[in-house]
Amino acid sequence: MVKRIGILTSGGDAPGMNAAIRAVTRVAIHAGIEVYGIYDGYAGLVNDKIEKLTRSDVSDILDRGGTKLGSARLPEFKEESVRLKAVENLKKHGIEALVVIGGDGSYRGALALTEMGINCIGLPGTIDNDITCSDVSIGFDTALETIVDAVDKLRDTSSSHQRCSIVEVMGNRCGDLALWAGLATGAEIVVTQQTGFEETEVLEQLQYFYEIAKKRHAIVIISEKITDVHAFAKKVSLNTGYSGRATILGHVQRGGSPTPVDRVLASQMGEKAVDLLMAGKGGLCVAKQNNQIVAVPISEALDMPRSSRKALQNLFNRLI
Ligand code: ADP
Repeated sequence: MVKRIGILTSGGDAPGMNAAIRAVTRVAIHAGIEVYGIYDGYAGLVNDKIEKLTRSDVSDILDRGGTKLGSARLPEFKEESVRLKAVENLKKHGIEALVVIGGDGSYRGALALTEMGINCIGLPGTIDNDITCSDVSIGFDTALETIVDAVDKLRDTSSSHQRCSIVEVMGNRCGDLALWAGLATGAEIVVTQQTGFEETEVLEQLQYFYEIAKKRHAIVIISEKITDVHAFAKKVSLNTGYSGRATILGHVQRGGSPTPVDRVLASQMGEKAVDLLMAGKGGLCVAKQNNQIVAVPISEALDMPRSSRKALQNLFNRLI
């Protein structure tokens, strides 16, 4: 059975990564497996920033945002020669298998390492919820709470001044954060890559809310990478009765103490990762499907189409 495993966090960070690090470390130590922390993602693997983790090294991190191990991006990890250096370092420390917490880029690295003889298990650590094989990813619930808190506050002030607040949220081309936040805050309009963006149509809808529905304010939640929200806010001011104001929530969405839901999810997924490595498995990622924690081959996970979330979008439309 595997005697020594490594753990790293990679790509964009997400609240709950620490809870996953803690779970992997403690479950493994309970099973008599040694755990090594690798700092700054794949960069630490290549540069040999590797240290043994004890049970107490992961104390007091369950409730902390960010990642104790640090995260980084290392585009050169796509090159086999760079990965060979990583494998060499792992062998030097006697590390036989790895848990990789990150997004789909990190999963590609994990799959490539598995193919080079190091069993890797991926955990979905991303606020964007863009790992399509899992109903939910570690960090999504916390980011959603941050967005809802901000939008609730914006609604208070928008209402006082007859404003339209345009709020840009993250999502990396996945509309889940925007759609869930729209549902949870009663936003007037949600724009995502999945809904598409017809600017004139949105302006007409806003004018309808102002003139016919007599709403004192309007909230538009829009996914990142769709349009320049500041320029759009100006158009709202020019073409509707509202005064348009844009807010880009940005990196605050990535921070904060993870919600209880994210802490429990990260703990369950961490446990599953260790169980899979103990069973000698690799090249898999952990997912939550229909309330069960399951394992999916990374090769399949990377190919899965994005779900269109039609039912939730329909619900949103019926609630306006
Ligand atoms: P995320 O994991 O959040 O999607 P990235 O896409 O930036 O973030 O990927 C994180 C890291 O994973 C990259 O910096 C790189 O080191 C590694 N990686 C990404 N794609 C590949 C690939 N095709 N092969 C090997 N490693 C990869």
